[in-house]
Amino acid sequence: MNGATQVVKDDGARAILPPFGTEHEELRQTVARFVAAEIAPQVDEWERAEEFPRDLYRRCAELGFLGLKFPEAYGGQGGDHLHDAVWVEELARSGGSGGVAAGLNAHASIALPPIFNFGDEEQRQRWLVPGIAGEKIGALGITEPGAGSDVAGITTKARKTSGGYVVNGAKTFITNGVRADFLVCACKTTEAGGHGGISFLVLEREMPGYEVSRKLEKLGWRSSDTGEISFTDVEVPAANLLGEENGGFKLIMANFAWERLLMAIGAVGAMGRLLDTAVAYALDRAQRVGRPIGLCQAIRHQIAEMATKAEVSRALTYDALRLFHRGQPCIREVSMAKLLTQRAVLEIADQALQIHGGYGYTREYGIERAVRDARLGPIGGGTDEVMKEIIGKTLGL
Ligand SMILES: Cc1cc2nc3c(=O)[nH]c(=O)nc-3n(C[C@H](O)[C@H](O)[C@H](O)COP(=O)(O)OP(=O)(O)OC[C@H]3O[C@@H](n4cnc5c(N)ncnc54)[C@H](O)[C@@H]3O)c2cc1C
Repeated sequence: MNGATQVVKDDGARAILPPFGTEHEELRQTVARFVAAEIAPQVDEWERAEEFPRDLYRRCAELGFLGLKFPEAYGGQGGDHLHDAVWVEELARSGGSGGVAAGLNAHASIALPPIFNFGDEEQRQRWLVPGIAGEKIGALGITEPGAGSDVAGITTKARKTSGGYVVNGAKTFITNGVRADFLVCACKTTEAGGHGGISFLVLEREMPGYEVSRKLEKLGWRSSDTGEISFTDVEVPAANLLGEENGGFKLIMANFAWERLLMAIGAVGAMGRLLDTAVAYALDRAQRVGRPIGLCQAIRHQIAEMATKAEVSRALTYDALRLFHRGQPCIREVSMAKLLTQRAVLEIADQALQIHGGYGYTREYGIERAVRDARLGPIGGGTDEVMKEIIGKTLGL
């Protein structure tokens, strides 16, 4: 008898892995129930419409999901990054739409943190409080038509005036760019720009000269809006400067760590969903067509490989999250988690599609959407090549 035949199926329940504990598991189940009842059934329609209703922000706010890691004084839940991580992972796992997750998280987990972390009290009241309540929607604007990976190369210029700044330039690929009420926007505030000459300004959509020039059509993330925004002599008061003038590059880098970690956590959730779908399909098809597809060795091996990749991804991501949560240096681990998980979820989605055959290619099981959504991972939030550069540098290369 060989070793493999002695192994029996377990019940699929996994041990709770640190940094999570039982309190997080309760939140996980609450999120899962909400997403399964109020998001998953609508996803197909929202993907076709290329947007989800604005009301969804309010609904998520009502349930406390937009303010998990913010203090109660601002309408938040008084939790921390681990609570936010549970929300992001479970939204990806139970929701099955990269677009919905991107739209909600670009607001709550990417645009609001710099306001909380670097804003003064008045700025928190103006944008964080209505943001947590789902009344105002935010976006983060860094990428430009001529500067993506090269963040220091942005050219959107904020010229200083007596009362503040006059902004000219453009941003592209901005998630929530079409519907956002405010944009946390990286601008050049010295002639030279670069590492020592970038500042964060909060631009508001009603400011004269602020214009959404285009909504972009995309391969995936279809239910999120991705916009191009132009600025023509936009007058921005000094009160809209976040943090120190010319200190923006540091703020961008600080924000990237959490954004990349969130992408890794979202991928872990998506991988869990794909794996469950593939196993269920293989078993179900075996019964329906009377052929042992679920038990055929090739399929079993394919799924075993998917499960292994998903588990390695989860372990590395949780490791990076543990370090981040403890405030320890974690740039290398976060970059590795982002690099590994974004490719892994794409491969797993492709393997799941193959297992589903023609059914995977249609909308029926949500697999074709998963493949399209996963393709953004190696590009957004810093490309694979940028991650490798960072990892190389942390190794002294
Ligand atoms: C759907 C979507 C949503 C997005 N949301 C946002 C958002 O909300 N806010 C925001 O600011 N941005 C957003 N982005 C932008 C995203 O972060 C950028 O697309 C990404 O950083 C890459 O920049 P780029 O597209 O200009 O590509 P480029 O930087 O032009 O890169 C093109 C290719 O060249 C490679 N390359 C570039 N430089 C180097 C180098 N030095 N060494 C080796 N290879 C290199 C890259 O890895 C890549 O393969 C979004 C993008 C998409 C597609």
